[in-house]
Amino acid sequence: MTSNDNPAATDIFDAVVIGAGQAGLATGHHLRKAGQRFVILDAADAPGGSWKHHYRSLRLFSPARYSSLPGMAFPGDPDRYPSRDETMAYLTQYAAEQQVPIQSGSRVNEVRRRAEGVFEVHEGGRVLLARAVIAATGSFERPRMPALPGQDDFRGTLLHSLAYQSPEAFTGQRVVVVGAANSGVQIAAELAGHARVSIAARRPPSLLRQRLLGIDVHAWWSAFGLDTAEVTTWRADIFKRLHSKTGPSVLDAGIYREALASGHPDIRPMLQQFTPEGVVWADGTAEPVDAVIFATGFLPNLDYLAPLDAFDRHGAPRQKRGISTAVPGLYYVGLSYQRTYASATLRGVGPDARVVVDHLAEHLRGQKPSAEEAAPVGPRIEPVQLPA
Ligand code: FAD
Repeated sequence: MTSNDNPAATDIFDAVVIGAGQAGLATGHHLRKAGQRFVILDAADAPGGSWKHHYRSLRLFSPARYSSLPGMAFPGDPDRYPSRDETMAYLTQYAAEQQVPIQSGSRVNEVRRRAEGVFEVHEGGRVLLARAVIAATGSFERPRMPALPGQDDFRGTLLHSLAYQSPEAFTGQRVVVVGAANSGVQIAAELAGHARVSIAARRPPSLLRQRLLGIDVHAWWSAFGLDTAEVTTWRADIFKRLHSKTGPSVLDAGIYREALASGHPDIRPMLQQFTPEGVVWADGTAEPVDAVIFATGFLPNLDYLAPLDAFDRHGAPRQKRGISTAVPGLYYVGLSYQRTYASATLRGVGPDARVVVDHLAEHLRGQKPSAEEAAPVGPRIEPVQLPA
C-alpha cells in the first residue's frame, strides 16, 4: 500500500499498538474487552518486552501479589519476589491467554498522519492504517549515556547497565559503577563479591526498607493510595524536592545497607573525568580502572513518532494521563510517571492502559465502520503459541 492509496473504511484498524511488552499487552487486554479492532506490532521475535535482556540475578522489587497485569494473577506464592525468568514466563503466558493479536518481528519505523483522524504506521515494507496509535515501546532501546571528559579515550571496558548480565566476567577487576539508583546499587553489590567496586554518584542512595513491621512497602503504598494517586504538579514538586535532598530511593531488604556499611562497594562523589587507563575522582586523584558501568537509566524510546510533532522542546512527549495533548488519537502506555508513580511498573501499567482505552473508545465513537464493514482485514495475524 502506498501513501496515495485511498483505503476503504475496512482497511483501517481502530488502533495499532506498538510494543508487546507489559505495557502493550495490558493495552491489548483492555482493547479486546472494549471490542476494538487492533493489532500489536513488536520488533522482537516474541512478546514479553525487555525482561529477557536484564541481568540474570534480577528479581522484581514488588512481591508477586503486586506484580500482576489485568486479567491474570502472577502465579505462585504471592509474597515472593519473582525472578527475571519467572517474569518472562508470566508475560509469555499472559500474551497467550489474553488472545490478543500480536505480530512479532514487526519494527515500526515511523508513524505519520495520513488524513484527518487516520495514521499511517510504517513497518518494514508495509503501511498499516489506524484511527489511533498507542506507543508502548518502553525505554530499553534508549539507554541514557553520560559523556564525560576523556571518555572516548578510555581503554578499559565501558558499558551501560543494559549490557550487564552477571559478575563473573569482572572477577578480580577494579570496577566503577556510575549511578546510585536501584540498578546501580544492585549491580555494584552483586559485583562486590567478585571485584573491587566503587559507586560514583552525585548523591548517595537513600535506602528504603522493603518491609515495615514485617509487611512489604507495596502493601502500605497500596493501603494509603500512594500507588494510585495521580501525578500532579504539587506532588511532583514535593517528590523532586525530596529527591534532591535524599538521593535516589532504593528498596532494600537489608542486603545493600550491610554491603555499603562494609565498604564493599564504597560510595564516592561523582568522578570528574576519564583517563586512557582509568578515572579521575572528584578530589583530583587518578586511579587505574578496568571497567566502568553506567547505571544511568533510560529515556523514552519514541523516535518513530518524529513526523507527528508530538514532543515538547526537550524531546518529551506532550501528554497527560497517557493521552497526547499534541496529536488527537495518539496515546502512550508505560511512560515513567505518565499518570501515577507506578505508571512504568507491572502493577501500574494496567490501570493506565484502561484510562487510555476508555479515552480512545470515546475518541473513536462516530468514526467506526458499520457492522458489515467490520470484517477482519489488514495483515494476517498469527495466534500466539504457548512455549512447550
Ligand atoms: P519493554 O518491556 O521495553 O517493551 C517494549 C517492547 O517494544 C519491546 O518488546 C520491543 O521489542 C518493542 N519495540 C521497541 N521499539 C519498537 C518499534 N519501533 N517497533 C515495534 N516494536 C518496538 N518494574 C516493575 O514493575 N518491577 C520491577 O521489579 C522492575 N524492575 C526493573 C529493573 C530494571 C533493571 C529495569 C530497567 C526496569 C525495571 N522495571 C520494573 C520497570 C519496567 O517494568 C520494565 O522496564 C518493563 O520492561 C517496561 O515494560 P514496557 O512494556 O513499557 O517496555
